[in-house]
Amino acid sequence: MSKLICKHCGGNVETDEEICTHCGMPLPPDSSKDSQRKFILVIIALTIICIIMILWLPRELMQYPGR
Ligand SMILES: [Zn+2]
Repeated sequence: MSKLICKHCGGNVETDEEICTHCGMPLPPDSSKDSQRKFILVIIALTIICIIMILWLPRELMQYPGR
């Protein structure tokens, strides 16, 4: 289990807690984890687009031979 530091009291809180167990203040959503997930999704999307492009380009060239 990873821990984060409460911005209000500086105490260590479990990342899955929604409020600080020390001061009771609501914790911000784990933005680092969220952005990391988005980054991975963008990479996967780009990879899929690249694969589609690679698979499509030869066919396009074969349909219109430049002679
Ligand atoms: Zn706190």
